[in-house]
Amino acid sequence: MKVLLAAPRGYCAGVDRAVETVERALAQFGAPVYVRKQIVHNAHVVRDLESKGAIFVEELDEVPEGANAILSAHGVAPEVYEQARGRSLQTIDATCPLVTKVHFEARKFASDGFDIVLIGHEGHEEVIGTMGEAPSSITLIEKPADVDSLDLPGNKVAYLSQTTLSVDETNEVIAALRERFPQIQGPPREDICYATQNRQTAVKEIARRADVVLVIGSQNSSNSKRLAEVARVAGAESYLIDDETEIDPAWLDGAQTVGITSGASAPEWLVDRVVDWFRGRGETDVEEVRVVHEDVHFGLPKELDRA
Ligand code: SF4
Repeated sequence: MKVLLAAPRGYCAGVDRAVETVERALAQFGAPVYVRKQIVHNAHVVRDLESKGAIFVEELDEVPEGANAILSAHGVAPEVYEQARGRSLQTIDATCPLVTKVHFEARKFASDGFDIVLIGHEGHEEVIGTMGEAPSSITLIEKPADVDSLDLPGNKVAYLSQTTLSVDETNEVIAALRERFPQIQGPPREDICYATQNRQTAVKEIARRADVVLVIGSQNSSNSKRLAEVARVAGAESYLIDDETEIDPAWLDGAQTVGITSGASAPEWLVDRVVDWFRGRGETDVEEVRVVHEDVHFGLPKELDRA
């Protein structure tokens, strides 16, 4: 059996920054450091940070007054910042700069009088945060069929999207929007981020050559779930796993080639563990398939720089 490793895979610049933010905060301020929501959507990462002294909470009212509180990479609505101020929290904002960019676009379109159609998944933290920037101007849709039922009061319409969607499916939604609203405006640069796009391009490439693709990532990770879907559309069986313990050997029956990739919130050591699992079964023919080089880095939140 041959094993193909997709590249790029795993941590994006926003996740790298968010995880380092928690680690630096623990080093500088000492434990505990509170984190609102999962800092990134990966069960292993969250458990690891918990073991180092991070306390994950759902809402800021669970954080003691005046304590350090980190906001997750997915971004928050303005009311969360207000709540943090009201409780005198020392807030460290780990929102990915590419999510902040979408928030800025939402505010700009709303202040210019546009009705905004946001393409995204209901209930996802990033979507909740973006909608909070202009709640009365934004309507959420998920698929092309939702476009028909849009009832927008004005004649100025714009669209934005969640950063971690399927590129191909989102293009279908945008095409439907353009058909219904020919004058619709979009963001100056695509909202689906470079990391999402690159990982989907890479998984398509290995899925083309593989019978089965294993995507390492947690079930609540939007970009990881999209990778598994993209692999399926490209013709491979695909499974989303948190780690090697979730591999069912029956999935591999008859497979000549297996592809492996990892979502933007999954650390590389989980990939190593999965590859070691295959090596332990005597599968030593491992090839990395790189479709694009990435060199994106974000500085740490300013609150940490100052500290
Ligand atoms: Fe930022 Fe994209 Fe990573 Fe999300 S997936 S944290 S938007 S770089």
